[in-house]
Amino acid sequence: MAKLTGLQIQKLLPKTNCKECGSNTCLAFAMKLAAQKAELSECPYASDEAKQILGAASEPPVKKIQIGTDKAFSLGDETVLYRHEKTFVNQTAMAINVNDTDAAADIDKTLRSIKEYELDRVGELLSIDAVCVTCKSGNAATFAALCKKAYEVTGRPLVINSTDVAQLTAAAEAVKGSRSILASATPETAETLVKVAAGNGHALAVTAPDLNALTALTAKIKDAGFNDLILQYQTGSLSELFQTNSIARRAALKDSFKPLGYPTLHIVPKSSMLEESVVAVNEISKYGGVCVLPSFDPAQLVPMMSLRQNMYTDPQKPIQVEPKLYEIGEPTKDSPVFVTTNFSLTYFIVSGEIENSGLNAWLVIPECEGMSVLTAWAAGKFSGAAIAKFCKSIDLDNKVTTREIVIPGYVAQISGELQECMPGWKVVVGAQEASDMESWVKAVYSKYL
Ligand code: SF4
Repeated sequence: MAKLTGLQIQKLLPKTNCKECGSNTCLAFAMKLAAQKAELSECPYASDEAKQILGAASEPPVKKIQIGTDKAFSLGDETVLYRHEKTFVNQTAMAINVNDTDAAADIDKTLRSIKEYELDRVGELLSIDAVCVTCKSGNAATFAALCKKAYEVTGRPLVINSTDVAQLTAAAEAVKGSRSILASATPETAETLVKVAAGNGHALAVTAPDLNALTALTAKIKDAGFNDLILQYQTGSLSELFQTNSIARRAALKDSFKPLGYPTLHIVPKSSMLEESVVAVNEISKYGGVCVLPSFDPAQLVPMMSLRQNMYTDPQKPIQVEPKLYEIGEPTKDSPVFVTTNFSLTYFIVSGEIENSGLNAWLVIPECEGMSVLTAWAAGKFSGAAIAKFCKSIDLDNKVTTREIVIPGYVAQISGELQECMPGWKVVVGAQEASDMESWVKAVYSKYL
């Protein structure tokens, strides 16, 4: 249902202006509801019809579903088609597949790798969210035993991958309460598998030959009272997958079409690393909920994790590092002092280049709201006065004996102001590009090497 306006909401209210909700009139309360600054429950006289209509209207266009318990993550809850409109909310969950016919040693190695994998990128620790266990043995007991083991070893929720009801039921019971995903129910098996999913506390992926059949299926399951659904499209080609992802998300967001308002699951088929990666990139870029890679390979995971991080970072809130005095290497009191902004990428590039140059140094990172050097300077966050104030707040004068501070070459224009604000200090204009740091150090700061 489309979002209702204040006037439309007012028509559903008692219109007695009794003020018990804290608003002077029902219209004022309706306006607050429309702006999501009030809850309908604050009006004690709201009718059942109002509750039903407003409840449906306030549901997110893509249902939010929590997967997992200890290592939990959320899917869905998205409100925009394009990241720059606002932000994407719940990132594509990355999962790795194991088959129940794989060699025991290979399974153990993969599960250990999934558990231990951690990628430290621009200050965030990125990890694998889930394990997909695929039944290839045809044996429900073997499949269920591996699901149990995968959950116990990794602590991650599972994508329990089979189309056979007996196999899915055995595995669902083996990891009851793990809030995993049963994948997948078809129109023929849905009735039984909804009971299995609900009875064991799992979400249910649903699949059908085309979007019409899939929407009929989700609508039917929702009407029956189960709504923790995940869509698994049956697409033949990459272009079809791209189109289907886009069409479904557009229908959910722009047309408020509830039967497609669910997160998705895509299990990337085994092929070459390039082909697998292209499909995974499509999922991460175009609304994928859970993306299962066929095997564990750090060479494939690093770019996927990095892309995902870039897609799901709030464009209005750049990734930041904590403003403070950082040690690069093992600086002493007379080591050189550099300053740059707290935009994560800037910090990691500059600190890496200082390290590469062979210097042990201090790096002053003032609060710049996560902006890059020139942006922060233009916004007045990286002025001479602001840097000097921050240096004072961290007691830099008493932490180092050095009295030279190196500023980024791009903001040479603040050197005079900084000089004035930091009496006794000499301001040195450093390299413009971090990549020129090494040659700049050799040319200007060789005394510290
Ligand atoms: S409590 Fe309900 S009826 Fe009374 S003013 Fe508020 S919205 Fe209107």
